[in-house]
Amino acid sequence: MEFEAQKHRLIEDLRQHGISERVLDAMLRVPRHLFVPEREQKNAYTDYPLAIGWGQTISAPHMVAIMCDLLDIQDGMKVLEIGAGSGYHAAVMAELAGSGHVYAVELIEGLALFARNNLKKAGISNVTVLVEDGSLGLPRFAPYDRISVAAAAPDIPDALTDQLKEGGKLVIPVGRYAQELYLITKMNGIKNDEKGGVVFVPLVGKKGFPF
Ligand code: SAH
Repeated sequence: MEFEAQKHRLIEDLRQHGISERVLDAMLRVPRHLFVPEREQKNAYTDYPLAIGWGQTISAPHMVAIMCDLLDIQDGMKVLEIGAGSGYHAAVMAELAGSGHVYAVELIEGLALFARNNLKKAGISNVTVLVEDGSLGLPRFAPYDRISVAAAAPDIPDALTDQLKEGGKLVIPVGRYAQELYLITKMNGIKNDEKGGVVFVPLVGKKGFPF
């Protein structure tokens, strides 16, 4: 089956699971097969995480969809992603942010290059990939409307809530073995909502797990 047909089938599955039309539309516009190594292209439209090298993975499509739905990214927003990996999740958020911008930080230089190259192939120009320790956020371009963390942290780094705008939202998996996805809203203080168990690679760094 062609990639296009496989992609439509995957999106239909996600629709059955209650993902919003806005997020599904954004995912339809992003060719996931351009964000995985060639040997994984045949699996690009299955709903699984896939190996992208350096011991890291591109998240499963349903996880990208759920996190995008929780974040409620609107046109024009400034978004920070921690853990760019392949650049796929950043690409979907960039589609949702429209005239806005996504700053995606990645600790591993080889993956940052991979992500930049993939985004270019996909024709997505409103993402900047930077090599940084995202456990400290990215103070240079703060504050952000939205922050999405794609690696599991030991706890919620203060740097991230500090770098959120008032009214801003953050999604982050927390925990070493049993991980929980949190949606944090900054509005007259900080509100934390638990959104279910998840499995992510660890966030390593100064405010993450030790290397
Ligand atoms: N969002 C990615 C999936 C990333 S997997 C995608 O769509 O493909 C998590 C990524 O977080 C890995 O690439 C890992 O190298 C990165 N990472 C781990 N700790 C980090 C840190 N402190 N700062 C930035 N990136 C980090």
